[in-house]
Amino acid sequence: MTRPFRLALPSKGRLHAPALELARAAGVEVDLNGRALHAHCSRWDIEVLFARADDIPAWTADGAVDAAVAGRDLIVEAAAEVDELVPLGFGRCALEVAVPAGGTIAEVGALDGGRVATAHPRTAAAFFASQGLTVDTVPIRGSVELAPRLDAADGIVDLVSSGDTLRQNGLRPIATVLESEAVLVARSGLGGRAQAVAGELATVIESVVAARDKRYLMLNAPDESLDDVIALLPGMDSPTVLPLARGGLHAVHADVDAEAVADLLAPLRAAGARSLLVLPIQNLIP
Ligand code: AMP
Repeated sequence: MTRPFRLALPSKGRLHAPALELARAAGVEVDLNGRALHAHCSRWDIEVLFARADDIPAWTADGAVDAAVAGRDLIVEAAAEVDELVPLGFGRCALEVAVPAGGTIAEVGALDGGRVATAHPRTAAAFFASQGLTVDTVPIRGSVELAPRLDAADGIVDLVSSGDTLRQNGLRPIATVLESEAVLVARSGLGGRAQAVAGELATVIESVVAARDKRYLMLNAPDESLDDVIALLPGMDSPTVLPLARGGLHAVHADVDAEAVADLLAPLRAAGARSLLVLPIQNLIP
C-alpha cells in the first residue's frame, strides 16, 4: 500500500459527533485542526477524512477511501457495494412510508398509482416494486414531510426516529422500508495491508461498541452470603470469585448490563454484599 489507510467520517449532521467520539474511543486520535478536512492517526497510519454523509457510500465503493462510518440507509440508496463490518448502535432510524393521518390511505396497497415524496427515491422505488405496486417517486432533498400538505404527493418515504416530526406534520407511518443505523463499512475486496488494518480497526471499534452497554461490577461478600450474591448476578459467564487476603470474604467481579445496575444494587446489599464498585468498561470482546 503506497498511501495510508483512509477512513472517512461524516463531516457534519447527526452522525458527525458520535462517529468522531467513537473513532477517538477506538484510539484513532483525530485532531480537528481548524478547517482541515483530514487528520492523521499515528497508531495505524490511518488518514481520517471528513466527508458529507451522502457522499461517503460512493467514496468507499469507488476506493477513494478504504473504510467509513455511514448510515445504512445511504449505503442502500447509493447501491454502494461495500462490506458492512460493524453496526455501531447510533443513528438508529427507520425508513418509513407515511401518509396523512386523517386521510383514507391505511396500507401501502392504497398508494398504487399514486405519488410519494422522498429523499430515498431508489430505495422507495425498489420497495414499492417488491410489493407489486406502481408508485411514482418525487425526489426531494429536505422537508419531505411537507409534500402531502402541499398536495405534491399522496405520502412520503422518510427517515423516522422518534416519530415526533411525522406527528407534528399530521402524518402517520404505515410500513417500514428499512431499519437503519450507523455502520462501519469497508471497500469490498480490500487486500494486503489495508485488509489487515480494516480488520484490526473493526475489532477495536466493535469492542468499544460492545462495552457501551456494559458495566464492571466489583463487590466483596462474606463467605456465608456468597451463594446468595452470585445468584443475583445475571446469567452471563460465571463471575470471577477471588478469596481476599483477610479470611471470610471473597471478591466477586462480573460484567453486567448497564441498564440492570440500578435494579441490582439494593438486592446485592441486602444479600450481604459490600464495597460495591460499578465501573465503565472501555473495551469488551465477548
Ligand atoms: P445528516 O442528514 O447528515 O444529519 O445525517 C442523516 C443520517 O442520519 C441519515 O442518513 C441516517 O442514517 C441518520 N439518521 C438517524 N435518525 C435520523 C432521522 N430521524 N432523520 C434523518 N436521519 C437520521
